[in-house]
Amino acid sequence: MTGRLQAPKGTHDLFPSDSERFAAVEATARRVFGAHGYGEIRTPTFEATELFARSVGETTDIVHKEMFTFPDRKGRSLTLRPENTAGVVRALVEKGLQDLPKPVRLWYAGPQFRYEQPQAGRYREFRQIGVELVGVPSASGDAEVIGMLFVFLRALGLADVRATINCIPKGEARAAFSRALQEHARPRASGFGEDDRKRLEENPLRLFDSKDPETKRVLEGAPATLDFLDDASRAHHEELKRLLPLLGVPFRESAAIVRGIDYYTLTVFEVTSDRLGAQNALLGGGRYDDLVADLGGPPTPAVGFAIGEDRLVEAMTSDARVPRTLFAVIPDGREDLVYALGVADEIRQLLPEAVVEADLLARGIGKGLGRAGQLASDPSRYAFRIAGVRAVLLGSKEREADSVTVKDLSTGAQETFPRRQLAERLAGRER
Ligand code: AMP
Repeated sequence: MTGRLQAPKGTHDLFPSDSERFAAVEATARRVFGAHGYGEIRTPTFEATELFARSVGETTDIVHKEMFTFPDRKGRSLTLRPENTAGVVRALVEKGLQDLPKPVRLWYAGPQFRYEQPQAGRYREFRQIGVELVGVPSASGDAEVIGMLFVFLRALGLADVRATINCIPKGEARAAFSRALQEHARPRASGFGEDDRKRLEENPLRLFDSKDPETKRVLEGAPATLDFLDDASRAHHEELKRLLPLLGVPFRESAAIVRGIDYYTLTVFEVTSDRLGAQNALLGGGRYDDLVADLGGPPTPAVGFAIGEDRLVEAMTSDARVPRTLFAVIPDGREDLVYALGVADEIRQLLPEAVVEADLLARGIGKGLGRAGQLASDPSRYAFRIAGVRAVLLGSKEREADSVTVKDLSTGAQETFPRRQLAERLAGRER
């Protein structure tokens, strides 16, 4: 039996007009992050399952419910990466982080996988662009990555965005905060679902990830992270708040930002966008001072963020695609095809910025012109925005006289001239 094949639930295909927007975003990331000294790292798409259990955290939703985990043929448990920080840290530890000059500045872009209920802006395969700064303990590190993030967002035309920041206590202060949270929530937990009751006992900070309105209500009156900071942590947070305005980063504080990953310590931040729907979180990040040591490396502080690239592209309204002139080179019949291919090649060399397509099906001038018109009106077809279409018509008359006929499809103007004049006729007229 053969069924209709479909993309797996929660995945989507990117056709040229979409993939070009992703490529443009990634090119901007490369430029902006590169100018701050960050180099690109690419880590495997799957890793040992244990890596995520040890970093993201056993009791997080990501590890608990959302991983694509499978045994390989030798029975080893592997997982499609649900995020990229763990892989980057694993790679650094494996390479010998202790011997690398600090700080280490890296960025990445690539697909991540989470078994979530798909909806607008939430997919099972999605892309993240992220940054990791490894080896800077002070708030200047947090400020650098957040400042760079805003340079990047503004370069993409997202001017109206603001960061929300919080500071999560660490060490003994974190334990005290967890206890206070439990003491606050336990007497109010009668309306909690099973998941949140478990969170309350096993990892109370994770209650902040709950989407249950009852849990959210109970948390409204909960103790605030900022009240539990020790002196050093408070100083770190105050320093960051002093630095962000200097870097032109608009922000506000919120005790409710705790983020659904266990490895964060001290600074956490998010950026949301009003241009997105219910899933309005554009990105999240924070400091993870214990993760490197937890994964077997030398104790090394670090800070980073991950942007949801799919949501970022969705939030961008401008068409980043460059306008190009399309030359549709149309042979009248099959006997004109070789001549047409030569002319097409010549135009490509004369105008490297143009898009030149030869009609390989050679179904005649009429059909070729019809198709050229269709191409220009289908915006998803090209990675470029079509600025204008010129049909280059080549029949036996042109072939025998070594000439070309060029028709501008927007004005209908048409002229025939010797092929050797292509350069001067086209020069300066097209991109
Ligand atoms: P996280 O790794 O959970 O901190 O997420 C960072 C960012 O990745 C979020 O702010 C979203 O923009 C994006 N993201 C997370 N999960 C998904 C998903 N399932 N589909 C699309 N984007 C996602």
